[in-house]
Amino acid sequence: MSQLRLDPLTGRWVVIAGERSERPSAFVTRRLPVEAEPSRPCPFCPGHENGPTTLESYGPGGQWWVRVVANRYPAFGGREPMVVTHLGPVFTQAPASGIHEVLVLTPDHDASWADLSDGHAAVVMQALARRMTEHTEVPGLRYSQAVVNWGREAGASIEHPHGQLLSMPFVPGETASELAGFSRFQGNCLLCAVIDAEEEARHRLLYVDDQVMVLCPFWSGTPYEMMIVPRAHSAHLFRASPETLAAVGAAVTRALSALRVRLGDIAYNVMFHSAPYRVSGDYHWHVHVHPQVSTRGGFELGSGVLINVVRPEQAAEELRAAVPAPV
Ligand SMILES: [Zn+2]
Ligand SMILES: [Zn+2]
Ligand SMILES: [Zn+2]
Repeated sequence: MSQLRLDPLTGRWVVIAGERSERPSAFVTRRLPVEAEPSRPCPFCPGHENGPTTLESYGPGGQWWVRVVANRYPAFGGREPMVVTHLGPVFTQAPASGIHEVLVLTPDHDASWADLSDGHAAVVMQALARRMTEHTEVPGLRYSQAVVNWGREAGASIEHPHGQLLSMPFVPGETASELAGFSRFQGNCLLCAVIDAEEEARHRLLYVDDQVMVLCPFWSGTPYEMMIVPRAHSAHLFRASPETLAAVGAAVTRALSALRVRLGDIAYNVMFHSAPYRVSGDYHWHVHVHPQVSTRGGFELGSGVLINVVRPEQAAEELRAAVPAPV
């Protein structure tokens, strides 16, 4: 029988339909070409640093491991204050001010985050934290969303491994829902409680160390969904210690690598959730990994209720067996 499970972060019910469980072979690996014009030289490869404006680069001894560039087609841009205009009773608009940057994750065109060394993943996380800190100082901005899209099916349009950082003058709906989830929770912190409860249960864990936990959430709405939660309670990614950032970076590598071992080269989204810059209630920053292995049908789009055909306990068991040994 299917089962309803409540996502306490967003307050949404999901349907766990494990009996319909399909074998991993039923999930498609990446098939669509990422690049519209594959012959075009890659703007993110070494040697093309004069292409998009480099804002900062990070790496040991003069070479870059991670490079931050301005997005050529920014979703958010400019410094106009967020003045909301009502054009009649139902049309409301505001300027999409803000910042949209690209983080080139590695000079290696053919790598992915799953291939990064722990040291390299730490540099990626430091870069993210540094850029976010800078964005918090821009007047009018309230929230930063960092993402990594892998594969055309997940929204990537450039093959070279990269992430994006979008900083905006409002708090987006998903974050607002999660903030409401934290304030609804009867206890100290919702995710600190998740850490305790999952450590006790154990069967949804993929990987743990003294800094971080990787798990398949009890309320997973998509097959093989994962969440990476630092143990240290902090609302903001950009205020995390270097040790925590490094541990989370390495945990992302392990999670993505396990996914690739288990399911092949599938498309996925990695989403970093940190509180709005100024937050009054409780929050605990974390990372979501959502494999793009199934398409949302009309029921899911129409109702907002996700149907997950792989029980998270099953997903965790399979992924746990695929986590690479520490190097
Ligand atoms: Zn490249
Ligand atoms: Zn917490
Ligand atoms: Zn979240």
